[in-house]
Amino acid sequence: MASQQSQHETDEQVNDGFVVDTANCEERERAYRERGTSRPITVVGNPVLHKECKDVTEFDDKLAALIDDMFASQRTAEGVGLAANQIGVDLKVFVYDCPDDDGVRHVGVVCNPVLEELAPEQRVLDDSNEGCLSVPTAYASLARPDYAVVRGQDAQGNPIKVRGTGYFARCLQHETDHLYGYLYIDRLSKRERKDALKQMAEGTPRYPVVAND
Ligand code: ZN
Repeated sequence: MASQQSQHETDEQVNDGFVVDTANCEERERAYRERGTSRPITVVGNPVLHKECKDVTEFDDKLAALIDDMFASQRTAEGVGLAANQIGVDLKVFVYDCPDDDGVRHVGVVCNPVLEELAPEQRVLDDSNEGCLSVPTAYASLARPDYAVVRGQDAQGNPIKVRGTGYFARCLQHETDHLYGYLYIDRLSKRERKDALKQMAEGTPRYPVVAND
C-alpha cells in the first residue's frame, strides 16, 4: 500500500496471542532489505494481480529470500505494505512497515493470510484515502473497518495473528485483498475507479514498474 503519513516509533508492545511486530522495527526492516534486491512493481492490468495467489507450502530459504526482496522493493517504492504478486510472484505472502492509529510502527510478514470476521460492534468504518503501489500516483477514499485481525503463518510456518488499527488496519485488509486477486480500486464505484485510473494515466511513478504488454 502507498504511504500516507509520517512514522514514529515507541517501545509499546502488543500481546494477547498477537504477534509483537512493534519491537526493533528499524533494525528488523533494515536487515531484510539489505539482504534483498529491489524489484520493479507490477501494475493494474498485469494478470498476476488479478487472480488468487498460491498458498505458501515451503517455508524455506527461497521464501526467506523472497521476503528480503519484498522489503527491499517496499522501501524503494516507499510503500507501507507489499504483496508478493506486486513483484510478480504468485504466492500468498505480504510484508508491511506501517503506522497504526497511535502512530506506532509495525513491521512484519504474513503468509497465507485470512481476515477474521468482525463482530458488528467492531465494524466502525473509516473512509480515509487509500493508494496502492500497483496503481501509481492515484488515491481514492474507501470505507473500511478501522480495526482488523489477520491469521496466517510467519516465514517459518508458525501460526500467527496480527491486529491493526487505523491506517495499519487498512493495510492488513488491502494486502490480504491483493493475495486473493483484488485491488482497492475493485472496491470503488465505477466512476471512482475510472477516476483513479485517470490519475494513474496522468501521473509518473517514482519507482520502477513492470510495463504491461
Ligand atoms: Zn496495493
